[in-house]
Amino acid sequence: MLTCPLCKKVVEAPARTCPRCQADLSLLADLMTDVQKLLARAEGHRKAGELAPAVEAYLAVLDVDPTNSDARAAVGPVLRGIHTAQRVAAMPPAEVPFRQAVVTLALAAIALVLGFLVVRVFV
Ligand SMILES: [Zn+2]
Repeated sequence: MLTCPLCKKVVEAPARTCPRCQADLSLLADLMTDVQKLLARAEGHRKAGELAPAVEAYLAVLDVDPTNSDARAAVGPVLRGIHTAQRVAAMPPAEVPFRQAVVTLALAAIALVLGFLVVRVFV
């Protein structure tokens, strides 16, 4: 759907001329088609997890159509995803306190011995 810039009538997207005032809408229709292709490309990148190309495509949509609500709604979460991935990648691995590691290993050894004894009793 696009709006005729002269008479403001809302027209279905493939229309090349306005049915009310006969204005030439071909440039506007081509622009809308290009925006839809860019949006589809951005969605494809986003769904494939290719976040940087997705952001580029969304920004290309917003260059052409700064009011595009789909691109505006999608670019923020994609940027947040990139930010979160970078933050997680930069975090050092969590350190396990020495005492907790010793207790965990001791419990594992006790469980192993108990398992061995249980098997010895039944076999
Ligand atoms: Zn018109």
